[in-house]
Amino acid sequence: MPRYEFRCRTCGDTFELSRPMAESSAPADCPAGHDDTVKLLSAVAVGGSSAAPAPAAGGGGGGGCCGGGCCG
Ligand SMILES: [Zn+2]
Repeated sequence: MPRYEFRCRTCGDTFELSRPMAESSAPADCPAGHDDTVKLLSAVAVGGSSAAPAPAAGGGGGGGCCGGGCCG
């Protein structure tokens, strides 16, 4: 379940809630009970299909000999 970060405009506190994406824009009460909160645009790790990781780290492809001293 994705986590969403909220900030309370009454006390200035920030807090996170885990809720279904269907309720991502639903109002949230801060831990102190205030309901004047705004949802922050934070990085949400959901495991979606976007932002695929880079294919490989490091160059060379693993088969190059340059750098090992065999290429002269
Ligand atoms: Zn509050």
